[in-house]
Amino acid sequence: MGLRGRTAAAVLGACLLAGTAGPPAYAGTATAYAGDDVAAQAGSGAAGAAEAGRSARGLEDAVVGAMLAASGQSARTLVAAGRETQVNVQRAAGDWAFGSGVLTVARGAHAAPDGWLFTARRQGGTWTVGLEGSAEFAALVKTAPESVVSAGEKRTFENHARNAAAVPTGLSLPYPVGESWAIVGGPHGWSGQPRPWSSIDLNKTFGSGSYEVLAAQSGRAYWICGNGGHIRIIHDNGWTTEYYHLAQEIRPNGTQVAMGAYLGMTSTRIPCGGSAGSNHVHFGLKQGGSFVPLQDKVIGGWTYYEGSSAYGGGARRGGTSVGVRGLLRNYGPEDGRYFENTTNHTIPDQGQVESPITVSGVPGNAPSRLSVYVDVHHTWIGDVTLDLVAPDGTAYRMKGPDPDDDGDILHETYTVDASAEVANGVWRLRAADVSVNDSGYIDAWNLTF
Ligand SMILES: [Zn+2]
Repeated sequence: MGLRGRTAAAVLGACLLAGTAGPPAYAGTATAYAGDDVAAQAGSGAAGAAEAGRSARGLEDAVVGAMLAASGQSARTLVAAGRETQVNVQRAAGDWAFGSGVLTVARGAHAAPDGWLFTARRQGGTWTVGLEGSAEFAALVKTAPESVVSAGEKRTFENHARNAAAVPTGLSLPYPVGESWAIVGGPHGWSGQPRPWSSIDLNKTFGSGSYEVLAAQSGRAYWICGNGGHIRIIHDNGWTTEYYHLAQEIRPNGTQVAMGAYLGMTSTRIPCGGSAGSNHVHFGLKQGGSFVPLQDKVIGGWTYYEGSSAYGGGARRGGTSVGVRGLLRNYGPEDGRYFENTTNHTIPDQGQVESPITVSGVPGNAPSRLSVYVDVHHTWIGDVTLDLVAPDGTAYRMKGPDPDDDGDILHETYTVDASAEVANGVWRLRAADVSVNDSGYIDAWNLTF
């Protein structure tokens, strides 16, 4: 199992080893690093294998050290609390690695695991680790080879950091727009009582039933806990959403997902520890890399308020107030600031097509960070250029041609400075095929103001 399922005690020494977590659901993937790349690099034979082992341990220890520092814990306090460490290497090449690290919590604890994405680089035999949200992470992401951090991820992390001061969340609730779900628990901490009260528990029916949890907005999705059940979505607009207690979940590895994409089912699973009294999704909000209070934030058309204790409180909309057990109808992102066109538009070979979206009810100009999500299919995606065309005809280039890119599906969010444009009117996505052979279509696109 390589890097999987070690306990915090292992950091202190084998004599303190506590029990380990159950068998990981995703066996065989997180170990690719130790098994393949390091061994290949270290050469063959017993000496090579030994060096590979040392290198994998070096990386794991470096990630665990960074997590302990970030959480203000020592290995000793972690062990005392029955917590364990996980280092899940999701991609690696040469002296680079990318993955997630987790400080689990004890089963039954009223808490949730802490998890970070990390990027790591080995120089002179020593691993440098950057945890998500840190300056080191940003610097390492920038220089990492694209086999470890893709160009799209680099763009997402850069946008995310740049936009971390954004005020509107632009988020829907994590279930279908128009559907109503019960508040199982009002604003509380990601780990229960401790502030900030960044999280809310939701299920379609209070107490029972398992329902589909959906992405609250487009973004880049990652799996965090090695045993599954915990998904993080990094949104280009600077916000991050967290989903825990998922069952039958997807396992995204930096995958771009659309708003409303399926993530998993509500359940009581605690794959990295914690507790859940009844089926729900534990839905948390971060700005940049840090949890922030839900108080006064607007998500799905509702403004959240805290109660006198964690898990109380609820949400308001106009003159309506909904508390625990009450139903929240999902009005979508920013209530009336989300617009989409899901009709297919064919992109002919060496031709172009425009898909329109009529925007109304948005006062003033468009934002300097207009979020444009596009879903384009093409038999050679490098042939395609994309422009956002404002109501007055001004075109904003989002994607140029790339003759070498033979991909066939583009799921991408672009951020356009459209602050010189009046928001209301007909916006168009212009897709042009600029090379001979191949064709495709715009599957869908949307705008969040
Ligand atoms: Zn919760």
